[in-house]
Amino acid sequence: MAEKKIGTVNYWRYSSDILGVFRLVPEGASKFPSYKAGQYMALQRNDCRLTKKVVSDGKKVEYPTVLDAQGVLKRGAVTHSYSIASAPFETEERGYLEFYVILEIDEKGVKGRLTESMFRMSPEADNKMVYYEKIAGDFTLDKRAAGFKNVILVGTGTGLAPFISMAKQLDFAAKSGMSNSVKYTLLHTNRTYEELDYYQDLLDIEAAQRFDFVYVPSVSRPTQRDWDDPKLGRGRANNMLRYLLEMPLKEEQDLQELTARGGDVTKAKAALEKTVKPALPKHLTREDLRERMDPATSVVITCGNPWSMEDIKYAAETTGMRFEKEDW
Ligand SMILES: Cc1cc2nc3c(=O)[nH]c(=O)nc-3n(C[C@H](O)[C@H](O)[C@H](O)COP(=O)(O)OP(=O)(O)OC[C@H]3O[C@@H](n4cnc5c(N)ncnc54)[C@H](O)[C@@H]3O)c2cc1C
Repeated sequence: MAEKKIGTVNYWRYSSDILGVFRLVPEGASKFPSYKAGQYMALQRNDCRLTKKVVSDGKKVEYPTVLDAQGVLKRGAVTHSYSIASAPFETEERGYLEFYVILEIDEKGVKGRLTESMFRMSPEADNKMVYYEKIAGDFTLDKRAAGFKNVILVGTGTGLAPFISMAKQLDFAAKSGMSNSVKYTLLHTNRTYEELDYYQDLLDIEAAQRFDFVYVPSVSRPTQRDWDDPKLGRGRANNMLRYLLEMPLKEEQDLQELTARGGDVTKAKAALEKTVKPALPKHLTREDLRERMDPATSVVITCGNPWSMEDIKYAAETTGMRFEKEDW
Protein backbone atom coordinates (compact mmCIF):
# COMPACT_ATOMS: atom_id res chain seq x y z
CA MET A 1 0.00 0.00 0.00
CA ALA A 2 1.31 3.43 -0.93
CA GLU A 3 2.23 5.80 1.89
CA LYS A 4 -0.40 8.33 2.96
CA LYS A 5 0.70 11.96 3.09
CA ILE A 6 -0.98 15.26 3.80
CA GLY A 7 -0.66 17.88 1.09
CA THR A 8 -1.87 21.46 0.88
CA VAL A 9 -4.28 22.81 -1.69
CA ASN A 10 -2.97 26.29 -2.41
CA TYR A 11 -5.04 27.22 -5.47
CA TRP A 12 -8.68 26.86 -6.53
CA ARG A 13 -10.34 28.23 -9.64
CA TYR A 14 -14.05 27.68 -10.26
CA SER A 15 -15.72 27.81 -13.65
CA SER A 16 -19.17 27.17 -12.12
CA ASP A 17 -20.72 26.14 -8.77
CA ILE A 18 -19.94 22.52 -9.57
CA LEU A 19 -16.72 22.67 -11.55
CA GLY A 20 -13.24 23.57 -10.38
CA VAL A 21 -9.50 23.20 -10.79
CA PHE A 22 -7.21 22.93 -7.78
CA ARG A 23 -3.50 22.49 -7.15
CA LEU A 24 -2.01 20.24 -4.51
CA VAL A 25 1.50 20.72 -3.15
CA PRO A 26 3.24 17.82 -1.39
CA GLU A 27 3.81 17.34 2.32
CA GLY A 28 6.81 19.18 3.77
CA ALA A 29 9.87 19.13 1.57
CA SER A 30 8.84 15.98 -0.30
CA LYS A 31 8.20 15.76 -4.05
CA PHE A 32 5.43 13.94 -5.88
CA PRO A 33 6.48 10.77 -7.71
CA SER A 34 7.15 11.24 -11.42
CA TYR A 35 4.30 10.32 -13.76
CA LYS A 36 3.06 10.22 -17.34
CA ALA A 37 0.25 12.35 -18.76
CA GLY A 38 -3.03 10.43 -18.34
CA GLN A 39 -2.27 8.84 -14.96
CA TYR A 40 -4.15 9.36 -11.69
CA MET A 41 -3.69 9.61 -7.95
CA ALA A 42 -5.88 8.63 -4.97
CA LEU A 43 -7.03 11.59 -2.85
CA GLN A 44 -8.81 11.58 0.48
CA ARG A 45 -10.57 13.94 2.86
CA ASN A 46 -11.42 13.03 6.43
CA ASP A 47 -14.65 14.95 7.00
CA CYS A 48 -16.85 13.35 4.33
CA ARG A 49 -20.47 12.32 4.78
CA LEU A 50 -20.46 8.57 5.32
CA THR A 51 -22.93 6.23 3.65
CA LYS A 52 -23.80 2.55 3.83
CA LYS A 53 -25.05 0.13 1.21
CA VAL A 54 -28.71 -0.88 1.56
CA VAL A 55 -30.37 -3.39 -0.77
CA SER A 56 -34.14 -3.12 -0.67
CA ASP A 57 -36.55 -5.74 -2.10
CA GLY A 58 -33.47 -7.83 -2.89
CA LYS A 59 -32.74 -5.56 -5.87
CA LYS A 60 -32.58 -1.81 -5.43
CA VAL A 61 -29.21 -0.60 -4.15
CA GLU A 62 -29.09 2.69 -2.24
CA TYR A 63 -26.44 4.47 -0.22
CA PRO A 64 -28.16 6.38 2.58
CA THR A 65 -26.20 8.61 4.95
CA VAL A 66 -25.02 6.96 8.17
CA LEU A 67 -26.36 8.64 11.34
CA ASP A 68 -25.05 8.16 14.89
CA ALA A 69 -27.21 7.25 17.95
CA GLN A 70 -28.21 10.93 18.29
CA GLY A 71 -29.32 11.10 14.67
CA VAL A 72 -26.31 13.21 13.70
CA LEU A 73 -24.68 12.67 10.31
CA LYS A 74 -21.47 10.65 10.63
CA ARG A 75 -18.32 11.93 8.95
CA GLY A 76 -15.11 10.14 8.06
CA ALA A 77 -12.55 9.40 5.38
CA VAL A 78 -13.48 8.80 1.74
CA THR A 79 -10.87 8.09 -0.93
CA HIS A 80 -11.24 8.25 -4.71
CA SER A 81 -8.94 8.41 -7.73
CA TYR A 82 -8.49 11.60 -9.78
CA SER A 83 -6.78 12.05 -13.13
CA ILE A 84 -3.90 14.49 -13.08
CA ALA A 85 -4.59 17.58 -15.19
CA SER A 86 -1.15 19.14 -14.86
CA ALA A 87 1.57 18.07 -17.26
CA PRO A 88 4.58 16.14 -15.90
CA PHE A 89 6.92 19.03 -16.81
CA GLU A 90 4.80 21.48 -14.77
CA THR A 91 5.06 19.28 -11.68
CA GLU A 92 8.79 18.92 -12.26
CA GLU A 93 9.25 22.69 -12.56
CA ARG A 94 6.66 24.00 -10.06
CA GLY A 95 6.06 21.16 -7.62
CA TYR A 96 2.25 20.94 -7.73
CA LEU A 97 -0.27 18.49 -9.16
CA GLU A 98 -3.37 19.98 -10.74
CA PHE A 99 -6.81 18.31 -10.67
CA TYR A 100 -10.05 19.14 -12.50
CA VAL A 101 -13.13 18.08 -10.54
CA ILE A 102 -16.90 18.18 -10.71
CA LEU A 103 -19.16 18.24 -7.66
CA GLU A 104 -21.12 15.00 -7.79
CA ILE A 105 -24.86 15.54 -7.28
CA ASP A 106 -27.34 12.66 -7.60
CA GLU A 107 -30.87 12.79 -9.00
CA LYS A 108 -32.25 13.59 -5.50
CA GLY A 109 -29.87 16.54 -5.16
CA VAL A 110 -27.56 14.76 -2.66
CA LYS A 111 -23.91 15.75 -3.04
CA GLY A 112 -21.12 13.19 -3.44
CA ARG A 113 -19.19 12.29 -0.30
CA LEU A 114 -15.67 13.37 -1.26
CA THR A 115 -16.43 16.12 -3.76
CA GLU A 116 -18.83 17.81 -1.29
CA SER A 117 -15.90 18.02 1.12
CA MET A 118 -13.52 19.18 -1.63
CA PHE A 119 -15.83 22.00 -2.69
CA ARG A 120 -15.90 23.27 0.93
CA MET A 121 -12.12 23.80 0.88
CA SER A 122 -10.42 27.17 0.72
CA PRO A 123 -6.72 27.86 0.07
CA GLU A 124 -6.49 30.10 3.16
CA ALA A 125 -8.15 27.95 5.82
CA ASP A 126 -9.47 24.46 5.13
CA ASN A 127 -6.71 23.41 2.74
CA LYS A 128 -5.41 19.97 3.73
CA MET A 129 -5.84 16.99 1.44
CA VAL A 130 -4.60 13.46 2.05
CA TYR A 131 -2.94 11.76 -0.92
CA TYR A 132 -1.50 8.30 -1.52
CA GLU A 133 2.07 8.65 -2.67
CA LYS A 134 1.61 6.60 -5.81
CA ILE A 135 0.66 7.67 -9.32
CA ALA A 136 -0.84 4.90 -11.41
CA GLY A 137 -2.85 4.03 -14.50
CA ASP A 138 -2.36 2.94 -18.09
CA PHE A 139 -4.41 5.69 -19.75
CA THR A 140 -1.28 7.05 -21.39
CA LEU A 141 -0.39 7.70 -25.02
CA ASP A 142 2.34 5.04 -24.78
CA LYS A 143 -0.21 2.41 -23.78
CA ARG A 144 -3.27 3.49 -25.77
CA ALA A 145 -1.99 5.19 -28.92
CA ALA A 146 1.28 3.42 -29.79
CA GLY A 147 1.62 2.83 -33.53
CA PHE A 148 -1.32 5.01 -34.63
CA LYS A 149 -0.75 7.87 -37.07
CA ASN A 150 -3.92 9.71 -36.03
CA VAL A 151 -4.94 10.12 -32.42
CA ILE A 152 -8.44 11.47 -31.78
CA LEU A 153 -8.93 12.50 -28.17
CA VAL A 154 -12.49 13.12 -26.97
CA GLY A 155 -12.91 14.78 -23.58
CA THR A 156 -16.28 15.70 -22.09
CA GLY A 157 -16.52 17.70 -18.86
CA THR A 158 -13.77 16.84 -16.38
CA GLY A 159 -12.90 13.98 -18.74
CA LEU A 160 -10.64 16.60 -20.31
CA ALA A 161 -8.20 16.20 -17.38
CA PRO A 162 -5.93 13.50 -18.89
CA PHE A 163 -6.02 15.20 -22.30
CA ILE A 164 -5.01 18.68 -21.12
CA SER A 165 -2.07 16.99 -19.40
CA MET A 166 -1.17 15.18 -22.65
CA ALA A 167 -1.56 18.30 -24.84
CA LYS A 168 0.62 20.45 -22.54
CA GLN A 169 3.28 17.74 -22.31
CA LEU A 170 3.36 17.16 -26.09
CA ASP A 171 3.71 20.92 -26.61
CA PHE A 172 6.52 21.06 -24.05
CA ALA A 173 8.30 18.07 -25.61
CA ALA A 174 8.00 19.62 -29.08
CA LYS A 175 9.47 22.87 -27.75
CA SER A 176 12.47 20.84 -26.63
CA GLY A 177 12.77 19.30 -30.10
CA MET A 178 11.06 15.98 -29.27
CA SER A 179 8.18 15.62 -31.64
CA ASN A 180 6.78 12.90 -33.87
CA SER A 181 4.68 12.80 -37.02
CA VAL A 182 1.44 11.78 -35.25
CA LYS A 183 -1.62 13.97 -35.90
CA TYR A 184 -3.52 14.77 -32.71
CA THR A 185 -7.12 16.01 -32.82
CA LEU A 186 -8.88 16.95 -29.59
CA LEU A 187 -12.68 17.15 -29.38
CA HIS A 188 -13.53 19.00 -26.17
CA THR A 189 -17.10 19.58 -25.02
CA ASN A 190 -18.89 20.97 -22.03
CA ARG A 191 -22.34 22.44 -21.51
CA THR A 192 -21.37 26.12 -21.51
CA TYR A 193 -18.47 28.34 -22.56
CA GLU A 194 -17.80 29.21 -18.89
CA GLU A 195 -17.40 25.49 -18.13
CA LEU A 196 -15.03 24.90 -21.04
CA ASP A 197 -11.97 24.95 -18.80
CA TYR A 198 -8.53 25.21 -20.40
CA TYR A 199 -10.11 26.63 -23.60
CA GLN A 200 -7.54 29.42 -23.98
CA ASP A 201 -4.59 27.14 -23.08
CA LEU A 202 -5.66 24.72 -25.80
CA LEU A 203 -6.22 27.49 -28.36
CA ASP A 204 -2.70 28.74 -27.58
CA ILE A 205 -1.19 25.26 -27.99
CA GLU A 206 -3.02 24.87 -31.30
CA ALA A 207 -1.92 28.32 -32.52
CA ALA A 208 1.74 27.59 -31.70
CA GLN A 209 1.68 24.42 -33.89
CA ARG A 210 4.79 23.02 -32.26
CA PHE A 211 3.27 19.61 -32.95
CA ASP A 212 0.44 18.56 -35.27
CA PHE A 213 -2.57 19.47 -33.13
CA VAL A 214 -6.12 20.50 -34.03
CA TYR A 215 -8.46 21.64 -31.26
CA VAL A 216 -12.23 21.24 -31.74
CA PRO A 217 -14.01 22.86 -28.77
CA SER A 218 -17.79 22.88 -28.58
CA VAL A 219 -20.62 23.63 -26.16
CA SER A 220 -23.88 21.74 -25.94
CA ARG A 221 -25.91 24.71 -24.62
CA PRO A 222 -24.74 27.59 -26.80
CA THR A 223 -25.69 31.18 -26.05
CA GLN A 224 -25.47 34.19 -28.38
CA ARG A 225 -21.91 34.75 -27.13
CA ASP A 226 -20.98 31.30 -28.38
CA TRP A 227 -22.61 31.72 -31.79
CA ASP A 228 -20.47 34.87 -32.16
CA ASP A 229 -17.22 33.13 -31.17
CA PRO A 230 -15.55 31.93 -34.41
CA LYS A 231 -13.19 29.60 -32.52
CA LEU A 232 -15.99 27.74 -30.75
CA GLY A 233 -18.12 24.92 -32.14
CA ARG A 234 -21.51 23.65 -31.02
CA GLY A 235 -22.99 20.25 -30.16
CA ARG A 236 -22.25 17.33 -27.86
CA ALA A 237 -19.00 15.38 -28.33
CA ASN A 238 -20.64 12.17 -29.55
CA ASN A 239 -22.63 14.04 -32.17
CA MET A 240 -19.60 16.07 -33.22
CA LEU A 241 -17.72 12.83 -33.84
CA ARG A 242 -20.71 11.35 -35.69
CA TYR A 243 -20.88 14.51 -37.84
CA LEU A 244 -17.17 14.26 -38.67
CA LEU A 245 -17.58 10.59 -39.56
CA GLU A 246 -20.65 11.40 -41.70
CA MET A 247 -22.99 9.35 -39.52
CA PRO A 248 -26.51 10.39 -38.45
CA LEU A 249 -26.76 12.14 -35.08
CA LYS A 250 -27.51 9.82 -32.15
CA GLU A 251 -31.03 11.25 -31.82
CA GLU A 252 -31.65 10.89 -35.58
CA GLN A 253 -30.56 7.27 -35.46
CA ASP A 254 -32.74 6.55 -32.39
CA LEU A 255 -35.74 8.02 -34.19
CA GLN A 256 -35.01 6.07 -37.40
CA GLU A 257 -34.69 2.81 -35.45
CA LEU A 258 -37.88 3.38 -33.47
CA THR A 259 -39.79 4.29 -36.60
CA ALA A 260 -38.55 1.09 -38.31
CA ARG A 261 -39.71 -0.96 -35.32
CA GLY A 262 -43.09 0.79 -35.28
CA GLY A 263 -42.58 2.07 -31.72
CA ASP A 264 -43.90 5.26 -30.09
CA VAL A 265 -41.70 8.03 -31.49
CA THR A 266 -43.01 10.96 -29.42
CA LYS A 267 -40.06 11.10 -27.01
CA ALA A 268 -37.47 10.43 -29.73
CA LYS A 269 -38.90 13.25 -31.86
CA ALA A 270 -38.81 15.67 -28.92
CA ALA A 271 -35.21 14.63 -28.15
CA LEU A 272 -34.17 15.28 -31.76
CA GLU A 273 -35.85 18.69 -31.79
CA LYS A 274 -33.93 19.69 -28.65
CA THR A 275 -30.59 18.43 -29.99
CA VAL A 276 -28.03 21.09 -30.80
CA LYS A 277 -26.77 20.29 -34.30
CA PRO A 278 -22.98 19.97 -34.45
CA ALA A 279 -21.13 22.94 -35.93
CA LEU A 280 -17.36 23.27 -36.20
CA PRO A 281 -15.27 26.29 -35.23
CA LYS A 282 -15.23 28.50 -38.35
CA HIS A 283 -11.60 27.88 -39.34
CA LEU A 284 -12.10 24.08 -39.55
CA THR A 285 -13.84 22.01 -42.20
CA ARG A 286 -15.25 18.50 -42.01
CA GLU A 287 -13.20 17.49 -45.06
CA ASP A 288 -9.90 18.58 -43.48
CA LEU A 289 -10.73 16.82 -40.22
CA ARG A 290 -11.85 13.66 -42.03
CA GLU A 291 -8.32 13.35 -43.43
CA ARG A 292 -7.11 13.01 -39.85
CA MET A 293 -9.49 10.11 -39.18
CA ASP A 294 -8.53 7.35 -41.57
CA PRO A 295 -10.01 4.24 -39.83
CA ALA A 296 -7.00 2.01 -40.46
CA THR A 297 -4.52 4.37 -38.82
CA SER A 298 -6.66 6.13 -36.20
CA VAL A 299 -7.47 5.53 -32.57
CA VAL A 300 -10.28 7.28 -30.70
CA ILE A 301 -9.45 7.75 -27.03
CA THR A 302 -12.14 9.10 -24.73
CA CYS A 303 -12.78 10.03 -21.12
CA GLY A 304 -15.82 11.60 -19.45
CA ASN A 305 -19.57 11.17 -19.43
CA PRO A 306 -20.36 7.40 -19.61
CA TRP A 307 -23.41 7.88 -21.88
CA SER A 308 -21.36 9.93 -24.31
CA MET A 309 -18.44 7.47 -24.20
CA GLU A 310 -20.77 4.60 -25.07
CA ASP A 311 -21.96 6.41 -28.18
CA ILE A 312 -18.41 7.48 -29.10
CA LYS A 313 -17.44 3.79 -28.89
CA TYR A 314 -20.33 2.93 -31.21
CA ALA A 315 -19.32 5.65 -33.71
CA ALA A 316 -15.63 4.69 -33.66
CA GLU A 317 -16.22 0.95 -33.97
CA THR A 318 -18.90 1.32 -36.65
CA THR A 319 -16.35 3.22 -38.71
CA GLY A 320 -13.69 0.57 -38.06
CA MET A 321 -11.51 2.67 -35.77
CA ARG A 322 -9.78 1.41 -32.66
CA PHE A 323 -11.51 2.65 -29.49
CA GLU A 324 -9.97 3.25 -26.06
CA LYS A 325 -11.49 4.78 -22.93
CA GLU A 326 -10.79 5.61 -19.30
CA ASP A 327 -13.42 4.25 -16.89
CA TRP A 328 -14.25 6.47 -13.95
C1 LIG B 1 -9.13 6.57 -12.62
C2 LIG B 1 -10.18 7.60 -12.23
C3 LIG B 1 -9.93 8.93 -12.47
C4 LIG B 1 -10.90 9.88 -12.13
N1 LIG B 1 -10.64 11.21 -12.38
C5 LIG B 1 -11.55 12.15 -12.07
C6 LIG B 1 -11.30 13.54 -12.38
O1 LIG B 1 -10.24 13.90 -12.90
N2 LIG B 1 -12.24 14.44 -12.04
C7 LIG B 1 -13.44 14.06 -11.46
O2 LIG B 1 -14.27 14.95 -11.17
N3 LIG B 1 -13.70 12.76 -11.17
C8 LIG B 1 -12.79 11.80 -11.44
N4 LIG B 1 -13.05 10.48 -11.14
C9 LIG B 1 -14.28 10.16 -10.36
C10 LIG B 1 -13.98 10.24 -8.84
O3 LIG B 1 -13.06 9.21 -8.48
C11 LIG B 1 -15.22 10.11 -7.94
O4 LIG B 1 -15.90 8.93 -8.29
C12 LIG B 1 -16.17 11.29 -8.06
O5 LIG B 1 -15.47 12.50 -7.75
C13 LIG B 1 -17.36 11.17 -7.10
O6 LIG B 1 -16.92 11.10 -5.78
P1 LIG B 1 -17.88 11.47 -4.53
O7 LIG B 1 -17.29 10.89 -3.29
O8 LIG B 1 -18.14 12.94 -4.50
O9 LIG B 1 -19.24 10.75 -4.89
P2 LIG B 1 -19.83 9.42 -4.19
O10 LIG B 1 -20.37 9.74 -2.85
O11 LIG B 1 -18.80 8.34 -4.26
O12 LIG B 1 -21.03 9.12 -5.15
C14 LIG B 1 -20.80 8.59 -6.43
C15 LIG B 1 -21.69 7.36 -6.59
O13 LIG B 1 -21.33 6.38 -5.58
C16 LIG B 1 -22.50 5.94 -4.87
N5 LIG B 1 -22.14 5.71 -3.47
C17 LIG B 1 -22.41 6.49 -2.40
N6 LIG B 1 -21.96 5.88 -1.27
C18 LIG B 1 -21.38 4.72 -1.65
C19 LIG B 1 -20.73 3.67 -0.97
N7 LIG B 1 -20.61 3.69 0.37
N8 LIG B 1 -20.25 2.63 -1.67
C20 LIG B 1 -20.37 2.57 -3.00
N9 LIG B 1 -20.99 3.54 -3.73
C21 LIG B 1 -21.48 4.61 -3.06
C22 LIG B 1 -23.49 7.09 -5.03
O14 LIG B 1 -24.79 6.57 -4.95
C23 LIG B 1 -23.17 7.68 -6.39
O15 LIG B 1 -23.88 7.02 -7.39
C24 LIG B 1 -12.12 9.50 -11.50
C25 LIG B 1 -12.33 8.14 -11.26
C26 LIG B 1 -11.39 7.21 -11.62
C27 LIG B 1 -11.67 5.75 -11.34
